[in-house]
Amino acid sequence: MIDVLIIGAGPAGSTLAALLARDGYSVTIVEKAAFPRAKVCGEYLSPPSLAVFERLGLLDQFLELAGPVISRVAAFHKGTVIEAQMPERGGRHGRALRREVLDQLLLDNAIAAGAKVIQPAAVISAEKDGDGKIRSIIESGLEQKEIVTDIAVAAHGSWTIGKLHSQQRAGPPRPSDLVAFKTHFRGSSLPNDTMAILALPSGYGGMVTCDSGHTSFSFCIKRDALAAAREMYPSSSTGESAFEYIRSRCKGLDDAVAGAQRSGEWLSAGVIRPGRHFFHDGTVYAVGNAAGESHAVIADGITMAIRSAMIFRDSLVKVGWREPTFAHEYERQWRRAFNSRISYSKLIALLSMSPIACDLLSPFFRLFPSLLTAGAVLAGKSSADKHLAFGSSTAG
Ligand SMILES: Cc1cc2nc3c(=O)[nH]c(=O)nc-3n(C[C@H](O)[C@H](O)[C@H](O)COP(=O)(O)OP(=O)(O)OC[C@H]3O[C@@H](n4cnc5c(N)ncnc54)[C@H](O)[C@@H]3O)c2cc1C
Repeated sequence: MIDVLIIGAGPAGSTLAALLARDGYSVTIVEKAAFPRAKVCGEYLSPPSLAVFERLGLLDQFLELAGPVISRVAAFHKGTVIEAQMPERGGRHGRALRREVLDQLLLDNAIAAGAKVIQPAAVISAEKDGDGKIRSIIESGLEQKEIVTDIAVAAHGSWTIGKLHSQQRAGPPRPSDLVAFKTHFRGSSLPNDTMAILALPSGYGGMVTCDSGHTSFSFCIKRDALAAAREMYPSSSTGESAFEYIRSRCKGLDDAVAGAQRSGEWLSAGVIRPGRHFFHDGTVYAVGNAAGESHAVIADGITMAIRSAMIFRDSLVKVGWREPTFAHEYERQWRRAFNSRISYSKLIALLSMSPIACDLLSPFFRLFPSLLTAGAVLAGKSSADKHLAFGSSTAG
């Protein structure tokens, strides 16, 4: 039997663990955080993700737990609010679910499929030995132990600070670096059926109603704007000062939170550098954000993470566990699925962060709100995907 170590129990790691365990692989998943844990994320799941949940046998549970149907999309820019229909797929619209609930649901599914979980514990190193086996060190408190597997998969997200070699890629700060923030509100006046996208100077954001009456609000902001915000609101926390800075520049946001109460802490994450990261570095393979991510403005990262796990699994089914054939097939399929999505998200991010572009485009969107719907279709909010269908396989 082939042994697989999966590093991280986010959407990518837990989905891959469930798929491979079902296929007969011996899977161990190591997660450094104790669950349930919150996460910087907009928490919106597009219709293609719902198709994935259906195939994982989780759709009914997801629909029971998630927030209301999101059938409309709105764009907030300065004093302008434009609304349009959100595209659907197969008669379904997206929903939002807090990450503390979603990630537990996916991990429980992996456990039910037969995956073993070590949590809370971090993988701090992984090396290939002379026999081609991967020797990984797992750290939990003051204890360390070694685990030896045939395959190791980095599903640790991209921005996580960790000791593993595949997490040491940040390098020096760049002006384009984004820092992300997230919180929940209660009592927001954002309509329950609407996902709002915020075009901000030096950033972008998203707001949506998720489960249990929480409104999820998250945004990314460039370092220079964050520094300006801190100067403007010196007595506030970093998250609060960034929030006040963008709120004063975005009427749609200001209206939506007037009278609302923050129901969670400000969480932050950074540095965020959307784009392709790595597929295989000679020791570990990457799935989810570790492999690559789109700008969060298109709210598609969870779907991409889950799909990349499916592409990994489908590549194993297709060519079997034979390096470098498998590495080649996985990278080929990944690029086919996500290259254009990443480029498109970059374009949308550049446009929404450019005040001049937004001022020029606003009148067109006001005249033709269906352009927003078209943009959401391009962002994958309704696209079909062959990796949403399962083949059958046994461990090779
Ligand atoms: C501001 C913002 C808003 C967003 N909004 C949305 C949205 O609305 N919809 C959407 O689909 N996507 C959104 N995204 C993107 C989405 O959050 C990510 O794409 C998604 O979380 C990636 O999943 P993942 O499984 O690859 O990694 P993660 O979710 O980051 O999970 C990685 C896991 O690995 C664990 N880990 C890390 N290092 C180690 C280690 N060494 N050992 C063991 N465990 C480890 C971590 O604790 C974590 O649990 C947003 C992102 C941002 C920044």
